[in-house]
Amino acid sequence: MTSSTMRHGYGCSGAVIYADKAFHGSLLRGSVAVWCEAKVCFNPKVKIAILQSIFEIERVTSRIMNERTAAERDAPIYGSFRELFTKGFELDTPTCVFMIGTHIAAVVLGIWLFAYAPSEWVWAATIWIVIQFFLGSGSTTLYTHRLITHKAAKHVSAPVHWFFCFFGQIFSVQGSVRRWSANHSLHHGVDRHGKKELDPYSATWFDGPIRNFVWSHTLSHMCNHPESEEYTRSHNAKRHWIIMLQDKWYGLLTTFWLFLFPMALGYALGGWYGFFGLMAGSMLGTILVQHNTWTVNSVTHMWGKTDGLNSSASNNYVWLGPLGEGNHHGDHHDYPRDYRNGFGVSGWLLDPTRYGILVLRACNLVRGLNRATEKEEAEIIAGREIAQVSSMTAFNREAAALKKQLDTRVMELKNDWIEALAHWETLKQESKLLQQAADRRDELAKEIAQARAHVNMRKNAFFAELEALRTQAMSFSA
Ligand SMILES: [Zn+2]
Ligand SMILES: [Zn+2]
Repeated sequence: MTSSTMRHGYGCSGAVIYADKAFHGSLLRGSVAVWCEAKVCFNPKVKIAILQSIFEIERVTSRIMNERTAAERDAPIYGSFRELFTKGFELDTPTCVFMIGTHIAAVVLGIWLFAYAPSEWVWAATIWIVIQFFLGSGSTTLYTHRLITHKAAKHVSAPVHWFFCFFGQIFSVQGSVRRWSANHSLHHGVDRHGKKELDPYSATWFDGPIRNFVWSHTLSHMCNHPESEEYTRSHNAKRHWIIMLQDKWYGLLTTFWLFLFPMALGYALGGWYGFFGLMAGSMLGTILVQHNTWTVNSVTHMWGKTDGLNSSASNNYVWLGPLGEGNHHGDHHDYPRDYRNGFGVSGWLLDPTRYGILVLRACNLVRGLNRATEKEEAEIIAGREIAQVSSMTAFNREAAALKKQLDTRVMELKNDWIEALAHWETLKQESKLLQQAADRRDELAKEIAQARAHVNMRKNAFFAELEALRTQAMSFSA
């Protein structure tokens, strides 16, 4: 690796995220300066006003970005893979060796397992594969993706960090949490600033689906990418210390859980059959979980039923294990901080990860989940519909005039809908506050009763003591 490249591949302790705010910084330097000011401002009202102005700038910028047509946004920027290597990309040799090696090992051991191994080890390896598939996929989507990269919860407790960093996430074989998050931030950042060349696994860099699929699905992970200011910022962003520790020990953790542990366990339980049986399970599990996760970057950015508003991602309603991201990737790109992936009923059906996050919340292991309000969801859904209709071209001047009228009318109706929804949400919020006040009133009534009892107790104590003193005083005076 040269100094002019950064590591996106596997064998590195690379880079990081952080994402949304840091990334906005590259786009809106002015607003970041104001943001910094807001951080040192102690007057909450001023701080809120400053933050609101930042969000407004970001909203307007995002709208300008969205005014590009999908065709402009998704226009290819490279002609071939060879062109990439003239622009600073290079193959990451250790990663290539690891990836090719695990694929060959999976095929060879897989053939041996199903053709020659005793049936009990076929079962044992199958169980390993199933567990690794769900554990690895679920850890990436629930922890690394939603909780860490997108900060879907305001507070994530230490046991959650320990479990996923040092156990669950290792089985997804996606590189360290720190580096994964950094790359994924760049992937989303392009929705806001439009610098498509920064998206590490863009599915729209090339002309033609085959190159785009190969790049976004696998090849991008085998390369070191040119350095960028945005990547360096993500790399240097503050991370939880357990995540930094995992980044440091990632190679050792992977060696232990994917190689040493299954080998030792298999050998202890069944000699060499066990040794190779569980190794076959581990290698097959590794490539299955990897391809399942990569499908989100490739398939869902290339094919789907409902196009997203901000990105090339679509909702395709294909169940990808615990990867709700895959099923509703368009929704996710349009509202990435949501702990859910997918609006509406299909979101509940095809996003198992949200249940995992809700269970963690019920156990008080995560708190303060972010989600889009109904108004925000409605704005996204209406925006998609309008973008689709607006992309149709009128065939003559009269038709163009009619289309313009209809566009204006549709926008008015959309605004009416959103306004009505906003009013409903305000009433709901008021009702919630009243309910909270009512709940507090019951509590307060209890506290008042207790305080009254306390007053009586103190009063009685006072008179009892006074009576004792009086009796004593009378005995002296007598
Ligand atoms: Zn994506
Ligand atoms: Zn994401």
